Amino acid sequence: MNRISHWIDGKPWEGVAERTGEVFDPATGAVRAHVDYAGLEEVDRAVAAAARAFPGWRDTSLARRTNVLFAFREILRARRDELAAVVTAEHGKVLDDAAGEVQRALEVVEFACGVPHLLKGGFSENASTRVDVYSLRQPLGVVGVISPFNFPAMVPLWFAPVAVACGDTVVLKPSEKDPSAANVLAQWWAEAGLPEGVFNVVHGDKVAVDRLLEHPEVRAVSFVGSTPVARHVYETGTRHGKRVQALGGAKNHMVVLPDADLDLAADAAVSAGFGSAGERCMAVSVVVAVDPVGDDLVSRIRDRIGRVSVGDGRHPGAEMGPLVTRAHRDRVAGYLDDGVASGATLVVDGRNHPVGGDGNGFWLGPTLFDHVTPEMRIYRDEIFGPVLSVVRASSYDEALQLVNANPYGNGTAIFTNDGGAARRYQNEVEVGMVGVNVPIPVPVSYYSFGGWKSSLFGDTHAYGPDGIHFFTRTKVITSRWLDPSHGGVNLGFPRNH
Ligand code: NAD
Repeated sequence: MNRISHWIDGKPWEGVAERTGEVFDPATGAVRAHVDYAGLEEVDRAVAAAARAFPGWRDTSLARRTNVLFAFREILRARRDELAAVVTAEHGKVLDDAAGEVQRALEVVEFACGVPHLLKGGFSENASTRVDVYSLRQPLGVVGVISPFNFPAMVPLWFAPVAVACGDTVVLKPSEKDPSAANVLAQWWAEAGLPEGVFNVVHGDKVAVDRLLEHPEVRAVSFVGSTPVARHVYETGTRHGKRVQALGGAKNHMVVLPDADLDLAADAAVSAGFGSAGERCMAVSVVVAVDPVGDDLVSRIRDRIGRVSVGDGRHPGAEMGPLVTRAHRDRVAGYLDDGVASGATLVVDGRNHPVGGDGNGFWLGPTLFDHVTPEMRIYRDEIFGPVLSVVRASSYDEALQLVNANPYGNGTAIFTNDGGAARRYQNEVEVGMVGVNVPIPVPVSYYSFGGWKSSLFGDTHAYGPDGIHFFTRTKVITSRWLDPSHGGVNLGFPRNH
């Protein structure tokens, strides 16, 4: 049986773990590995390694740091299929989807390769007579990254390349459900020439997370996961004096206006609702059909769902894989009965969808509910599975009100041919990432990724310019070289002249 363990100070950890967890192949239901769970001692070792590596890495020139990033980018590019296969084996998403995840991760690495430009400070010559003022961006030290199961390669790489490029050192705590991708990344960072201790991985659960949140050497924490844990991470980390960005859950609405191209909208709803079995924080989980398009749209979505091929992600032709664990599959399936009991119309029951895969896998086909209303649990909860709800709205204003009343604000999309309506929506909607005729508006790497309201705690988003800001702090220097201190003692507050 495979054992997955921590990566500390440039090498695999060789100790014996007191606690371990099972890692499944979701398409067969078989246990494929055991993962070590870190206790306080292992987390402390990883943080100590990162702290030791920090002074050297911080002082490594930008030219050398970016050489490592370029080398890492080449490895990631050359071996992307290998990483995608690791993701599919433990997460279950189909290979093509896993390759897409790796591609988006690669884009963040490419963004981080440009860090010398982004770390440039400002310079004001002669701000006062013969006095220059300039700013520097300096790294923070050891930073913790805590990632969720649904993007085991991409989410760690939303943060690690930017942190490393800025001169920080990293301790990553990936999801215990699909931990192998993190170790592949650690190995590749080492091959790219990253010095020992700059990128470390500790596996485990709440014990490891809480230790990172309390550890005095950890200066900042980037977290992605569900909203209750994001809130806990934000509150605990900031209470311990850390800078924290904690990205949480989502309930993403796609508004379809009466003038929309309904085939385009139906394609988008099915792609964004059921891609990765709905286990994406940017998945569309609610379609808001503005009268009178409801019946027509539901019928087009239903037809497309019938053609979705569900099966083992490694098999050619499979479009949607299993859910990540049996417990999660059962939890999601529980919402099907719940929705019916609360009065929603079950248009497509995912339990009846044909599955091309091992009967022991964690399967659930795509499900469609119609006539869902905001007080129903299937509307309120983040289900995080292949369940799409249609809510009917009588007007644009009612649709907007519904979206803005939702506690989450990660992503949203509007489908319309009316530029004025789309422009109004982008202005009025209280959501961090908006798509206009684009269902999954994940920003490119040179913007920043983040939601509003209960979808993000903190004030900086991931990667892009916000990422650079998050992983650095500024220093402003006021300097006078000529004719110093010839003005005599002056106890007044310094004035510029
Ligand atoms: P999760 O919150 O269960 O776990 C996230 C991380 O926190 C994991 O590393 C896990 O080990 C750790 N953790 C779990 N419970 C903890 C606790 N009580 N205390 C401390 N640490 C804990 O999330 P998940 O199920 O792995 O991922 C799915 C969730 O992540 C969904 O809610 C999804 O919307 C969200 N997500 C959000 C974004 C975003 O950008 N906003 C992106 C991806 C996923």
